Amino acid sequence: MIHYKTPEEIEIMRASALLVSKTLGMLAKEIKPGVSSLYLDRLAETFIRDHGGVPGFLGMYDFPNSLCTSVNEQVVHGIPSKKPLENGDIISIDCGVFMNNFYGDHAYTFEVGEVDPEVKRLLKVTRECLELGIDACRVGNRIEDIGYFVQQHAEQHGYGVVRELVGHGLGRSMHEDPQVPNYGRRGRGKKIKDGLVVAIEPMINLGTHRVKQLSDGWSIVTLDGKPSAHYEHDVAVVNGKPEVLSTFAYIYEALGETPESPVTGSVPLP
Ligand code: MG
Ligand code: MG
Repeated sequence: MIHYKTPEEIEIMRASALLVSKTLGMLAKEIKPGVSSLYLDRLAETFIRDHGGVPGFLGMYDFPNSLCTSVNEQVVHGIPSKKPLENGDIISIDCGVFMNNFYGDHAYTFEVGEVDPEVKRLLKVTRECLELGIDACRVGNRIEDIGYFVQQHAEQHGYGVVRELVGHGLGRSMHEDPQVPNYGRRGRGKKIKDGLVVAIEPMINLGTHRVKQLSDGWSIVTLDGKPSAHYEHDVAVVNGKPEVLSTFAYIYEALGETPESPVTGSVPLP
């Protein structure tokens, strides 16, 4: 059952989403060769608690940390470790916050030092997939329209769209109905209505779409060992249109980059 949110609930969720956004912006300044993902995890947990939130992932389904940190061929659900990041790595950081009874859930794939142009292109196209998915999240469309546009754009570039993991409704629970696959057919699935809040999160692989789980019981990796990218935003449907509750603006500010995206980069810093 889908729990549609009131405008008041959406405002509370915006605060949770923004705390995740600020946490990722804080981490953006710390990510460099030699730094471990476990160090980033400790920084994030402290930052979230200092700002009145609780780490959303810590203890959820017995996950041991506050961040999912997925390096290179890891797609999602990587467990933070002491292994130092290396020049040329990419690291997808997925972060959840629980605050005022509502969750935020938001992810970004960061470059570590100098990254191969082929991988940079994967990151850019995956951000474009996210934009296209967000733009499809509006009244008049259905849930699978989101994945249709994500999949079409990714596959045009020869990339693999992960099937086994999907976006989701978000609210008082981290994972609510509906599931939001990153693939689909036009005009299929539930009608999109005002008050819907979903986490849209394309997971796009440089090579095959096929993945497997490591023996740690968490990490999902690409079957061919090629890199994978993951970006996620929390999106509410307001007055028929998508409103992005999270923002990459803090990340762009930290990295000194100009946002390429009109949807997610232009949100003013509160
Ligand atoms: Mg997430
Ligand atoms: Mg999610």
